[in-house]
Amino acid sequence: KESYRPILVAVAAAGSLGSSLYVMLADSGLESKEPGVASNPKKKLVLLGTGWAGMSFLKDINTNIYDVQVVSPRNYFVFTPLIPNVTNGTVEARSIAEPIRRMCRNRKKDVKLYEAECLDIDHNNKRLLCRDVSEVTVKGKEEFIVDYDYLVVAVGALSNTFGIPGVEKYCHFLKELEDASRIRDTIVDCFETASLPNLTDEERKRVLSFVVVGGGPTGVEFAAELHDLVHQELAKLYPFLKDLVSLTVIEAVDHILNTFDARIQNYAEEKFRREGLNLKTNCQVKKVNDGEIVYLDQKTKKEESIPFGLVVWSTGLGTRPVVRELMQQTGQGSRKVLATDEWLRVKGCDSMYALGDCATVEQRKIMEDINRLFELADKDKSGTLTVEEFKEMMQWARKRYPQIDTFMKKKQLKDVRALVQSAEATHTTDETEVDLEGFKKAVAEIDSQLTRFPATAQVATQQGAYLARCFNRLPSEAEAPEGPRRVTGEGYHRFQPFRYKHLGSFVPLGGEEAAAELPGDWISIGRSTQWLWYSVYASAEYLAQDLLSNRMKNFGRFL
Ligand code: FAD
Repeated sequence: KESYRPILVAVAAAGSLGSSLYVMLADSGLESKEPGVASNPKKKLVLLGTGWAGMSFLKDINTNIYDVQVVSPRNYFVFTPLIPNVTNGTVEARSIAEPIRRMCRNRKKDVKLYEAECLDIDHNNKRLLCRDVSEVTVKGKEEFIVDYDYLVVAVGALSNTFGIPGVEKYCHFLKELEDASRIRDTIVDCFETASLPNLTDEERKRVLSFVVVGGGPTGVEFAAELHDLVHQELAKLYPFLKDLVSLTVIEAVDHILNTFDARIQNYAEEKFRREGLNLKTNCQVKKVNDGEIVYLDQKTKKEESIPFGLVVWSTGLGTRPVVRELMQQTGQGSRKVLATDEWLRVKGCDSMYALGDCATVEQRKIMEDINRLFELADKDKSGTLTVEEFKEMMQWARKRYPQIDTFMKKKQLKDVRALVQSAEATHTTDETEVDLEGFKKAVAEIDSQLTRFPATAQVATQQGAYLARCFNRLPSEAEAPEGPRRVTGEGYHRFQPFRYKHLGSFVPLGGEEAAAELPGDWISIGRSTQWLWYSVYASAEYLAQDLLSNRMKNFGRFL
């Protein structure tokens, strides 16, 4: 990675000179030439990334219509929900990776795949600067240019270090498949080192101190997996070390799993405490030194430290350099992810789409909708609504935004919930004229929460499938422009906007237990939920089907 860092800096420095940079590159012979193809009448559709979003798009896109080219430093897809299982060895790394070329062959897709990283996007000239980042390169030919008619950006995100000193140097991340294998090796190394005869018990305790920073679903799942590994497997292999092991989870806010329902948070926290995990909530990491992590306890306002043998950093997502550069060029500089409209078009860029963890859909604000409906419902233009009118409006709002109720149940939105409840309570009385300011304020708060989709495989997959469907219909729509257009808040548009359908969230809690939050405020916790989790992944209409069917075929060969 070191070798291409200076180039990244150079590209970043080129900034507004982006287009002249491309002219220089074109003159220097970096133009890509497709072998054996004179001219291709199909439009060039370039996809960046082969993660959940990219693969879901690729799976459905019609390659008879488009000349599809894929640029990604990874020539395989990874089933990320099972990455934590690789750290404790219950799943082999190769079992959750699926080669892209095999997937394309199985699905009879005519796709050109370039195992390379996109370093820079020149959206004015519709060109990409790419670099071969593999270990085998041809000297002087590492970089090349790819032109596009349409660009689909699905490059995901990086782990966010918040610029905290020492994180990059001393912590492990849990993002890629290689990270999981490295973590597994380090855990075993910790146990082997602690077994050496010349260590004191104090030193052994330090080496066997495992710290997870971030109490989100990934951090919690990893902590649970690690606890199982230590107590079910390693305790048998290293019985003399069992009592020296410690496991700590550090979380900046007052609860772990803070995006989940309070019942799940409480269950997980109680389970962890019962099993002897140290939960440090309301604690902010300040720096990481070699073998020591320093944090500020918000409750005592004191700085504390924990010695460690391994720290896994899992505190959310940061921006990839190529996305940051594009955002700067397009005036989206201060954001963390690319803003798109509801059709996944990148704001300020022609023919460019973004999906998955690197993008966020800026939905039309609920407040605008509510205000519009309010105006429609307020038939006598009095500025107030009757009980019936209010109910009608709420019914409509809940239908369009089913998340409203789920969001209001979350602890962090308790003020909002109180506001909405008080506004609703007033409206269930016989009063016919009530001021709705409280309600409107509450909706505005919810609005700001709802406009961000969670960064999950579920969102990424739905977006990929949606965009492929739109692209597949595009040529026939162009032939019949008067075709099925639909009215939207922004006037006329060919396609329905993207709508996310939340199917629920699972989080494994270790010891064959899991918690699930399903639509309709349905909460399930325990062993049966873990089996539900297995069956969802085994049966879901996911990319995993390719992966599973190939695994099954291999399994069949064994039999
Ligand atoms: P990614 O899947 O990260 O894919 C990004 C792709 O872009 C990769 O192929 C990468 O190689 C490529 N790329 C990167 N840089 C460039 C570049 N410069 N040029 C070209 N290509 C590039 N979500 C769930 O819904 N359920 C779960 O249980 C769950 N568990 C998770 C567990 C772990 C350990 C992790 C890390 C994530 C988990 N997630 C889960 C989140 C989910 O994996 C992400 O939301 C999802 O991967 C996002 O998909 P994506 O395609 O946007 O990005």
